[in-house]
Amino acid sequence: MPELPEVEVTRRGVAPHLEGQIVGGVEFRHTGLRWPFPLELSQTLAGRTVRSTGRRGKYLLIHFDHGTLIIHLGMSGHIRILPQDVPPKKHDHFDMHVGSQVLRLSDPRRFGAVLWHAAEEGDIENHLLLRTLGVEPLEDKFTAKWLHQQTRGRTAAIKQVLLAGDIVVGVGNIYASESLFQARINPKTPAHRISLARYERLAQAIREILAAAIEQGGSTLKDFMSVNGQSGYFQQSYFAYARTGEPCRICNTPIKQIVQGQRSTFYCPNCQK
Ligand code: ZN
Repeated sequence: MPELPEVEVTRRGVAPHLEGQIVGGVEFRHTGLRWPFPLELSQTLAGRTVRSTGRRGKYLLIHFDHGTLIIHLGMSGHIRILPQDVPPKKHDHFDMHVGSQVLRLSDPRRFGAVLWHAAEEGDIENHLLLRTLGVEPLEDKFTAKWLHQQTRGRTAAIKQVLLAGDIVVGVGNIYASESLFQARINPKTPAHRISLARYERLAQAIREILAAAIEQGGSTLKDFMSVNGQSGYFQQSYFAYARTGEPCRICNTPIKQIVQGQRSTFYCPNCQK
């Protein structure tokens, strides 16, 4: 599944092809993905200039003067920038013609989304899908103090609190296991029982691990294709994730796999207390 780093890498990849360019129109080749496509979108966007791109959590935002196009990659989506004359393939459900090129969204499992938010509906941050999202992990608002404050009433395991995304976004299954390993926190620890000092370690681990993943060009997903059509799949060297039974890289104790909230968690029972 594309995680925050993949979406950010996608944003950085498409931005120079979109910003300042004029949209020719859009094409849908299906009725919708997770939700129906906005059928008026071609009229809404034709002749309009892309002002900037952004990202909130795993939502890619393409800003115009009169609103914002919201794209989500779902479970298996990817975006490429192609010449106009490249014929679409089976799962290429959405094209946006921009400048002399086309932004093409392919989404085999159709869990993604293409939505329009008109400026007159208010600030994009207040959009139904965005307003409940936690803070961005790579922005200043994300601190140990924030994590500590926000978890005082949370008795659920820290791994599940991170995955919930309402305190901090972008810490998906892989990054949660890896961050908790680096911070030496047992993933089963109730979030409200973790001290500020331990959250200092966790916040730093989350920032470092996500920044490294973005730097490496996105990871974790076989289906991810970078903008120039090359596979963005990058097999990172994980410390805990998917290393069940293998020796911990720090202490040699076999890495343990458990299930939390129907997701696999990997940790070292010796290093992570
Ligand atoms: Zn260990």
